[in-house]
Amino acid sequence: MSRLNPDDSSQTSPASLVILNGRLWTGDKSHPWAEALGARGERIVALGSIDSVKKLIDSKTRVIDLQGRLGLPGFIDSHTHFIEAGFHLLSVDLRSAATPEEFACRVGLHAAKLSAGRWITGGDWDHERWPGSMLPTKELIDHLTVDRPVFLSRLDGHMGLANSAALRLAGITKETADPPGGTIVRDPKSNEPTGILKDDAQALVLRVIPERNGVERAEALKAALSEAARVGVTSIQDITPWQDYDAYRRCSDERRLTVRVYARTPMSQWERQADQVASEGAGDDWLRLGGLKAFMDGSLGSTTALFFEPFNDAPNTSGLMIDDNIPEGKLKQNIRGADKAGLQCSVHAIGDRANNIALDYFEEVAKENGSRDRRFRIEHAQHLISDDVLRFGELGVIASMQPYHAADDGRWAERRLGAARAKSSYMFRSLLDSGATLAFGSDWYVAPLSPILGIHAAVTRQTIDGKNPGGWIPEEKITVEEAVGAYTTSAAYAEFGEKNKGSLEVGKLADLVVLSQDIFRIDPDKIQTTEVIHTIVGGRVVSGD
Ligand SMILES: [Zn+2]
Repeated sequence: MSRLNPDDSSQTSPASLVILNGRLWTGDKSHPWAEALGARGERIVALGSIDSVKKLIDSKTRVIDLQGRLGLPGFIDSHTHFIEAGFHLLSVDLRSAATPEEFACRVGLHAAKLSAGRWITGGDWDHERWPGSMLPTKELIDHLTVDRPVFLSRLDGHMGLANSAALRLAGITKETADPPGGTIVRDPKSNEPTGILKDDAQALVLRVIPERNGVERAEALKAALSEAARVGVTSIQDITPWQDYDAYRRCSDERRLTVRVYARTPMSQWERQADQVASEGAGDDWLRLGGLKAFMDGSLGSTTALFFEPFNDAPNTSGLMIDDNIPEGKLKQNIRGADKAGLQCSVHAIGDRANNIALDYFEEVAKENGSRDRRFRIEHAQHLISDDVLRFGELGVIASMQPYHAADDGRWAERRLGAARAKSSYMFRSLLDSGATLAFGSDWYVAPLSPILGIHAAVTRQTIDGKNPGGWIPEEKITVEEAVGAYTTSAAYAEFGEKNKGSLEVGKLADLVVLSQDIFRIDPDKIQTTEVIHTIVGGRVVSGD
């Protein structure tokens, strides 16, 4: 069996890259497996048996023998904060700090390496790892950072810890009122801010942090690109501030991108993207505009995700609506306008009520604007009432989800939600069964970028504390093939990219990964020990030799 380009010349002229002796899962339902692949330049020109593809080898062809290894279409991450993640790679790593003392110690060591006055940001701390899950306070780090302002994010980005210097610069005192959509956490006795700022209250500090310049953004992008190559990510659907878009653009113009970027800029400024697409077009295979992203609510970890019922462990609140939808209904107007302009709309919704409102807005706008291929998306779709699971399928709304978050939140979500409501968490199986398109991603920097970790989490639903070996809510497990599909074919669909990528087919981009073990055949518990041997983007090997 061989499938060659019908264009005759390509059957005789040599390939620039040939991959032999592989077990290639193509993602193409009509020809699911192949042994060999040939690419010329950026595109696949042959796929099929070793003998058929070998004919395309000449002295200049790069030949890689996979020795029977598994190859997949390159992983497409449906939700990244890519350049921000690059900044986090270059900053202090607090993600694995297991105690408040370790947290403080790492901040102190990092501060000692930087010149006085320079801000420390990032961190990705997680108090849910600490004994007692107490939130950190400014006192923990003040004595280590007297010479500089500090603002350290929780790993979900929905709260941060400011030191006293940062609070001073931001003008936050015990008299400062909570801004809409945000909370300044205070000491219950003195009313003094503890340093923790939740959701939109973070903006009070963020606006006094000096804007990063183009050189710094380029450095962060470079760091992020090498991490992507290491873990097999060949395309991202990014949440992209306009300054980041400029950094991508420069990198793309210099032909240094090794990841394809689908940029989703803030929904509140949708006209800006509409104008740019109208005047210059959406972009090319490396950098493309077309999506917008808005927030409906906060996060579960910060008790700011918007639910119908109050939290079990914080009964005075059921979460927050975020400023994108304040006053309520503002977001719907933006969706209506952006959709009319032909742009794809993505809404961040975590709590069940946030998802319910987002689905309502999508349903109403689709009716008002008339039928078209719009592919609305909900980012996270983390907790759903059962009627809404069905609506994803009925309305054709893409569920853009991050399985690693399930492995992470599964450690403590039941405490926050109660046992019955916790069952509504990360309903991968139910969503697929409802006919919904499931597109997977990481939410990097919030979670690790590695799609292997995501596949492991979706298939086993084990939690990262090892306490759920049979899976947290095991009825929502999906198969390896379904999880791989959510990182490849379905993810390509989620960015209107399915004609170009997401599967290995003649004529499509030669983006693929080669893995150290066959995740379709090994014990699912071992999936997370899999390594990426080669990452190939546009026929070029960007990682592995
Ligand atoms: Zn995100």
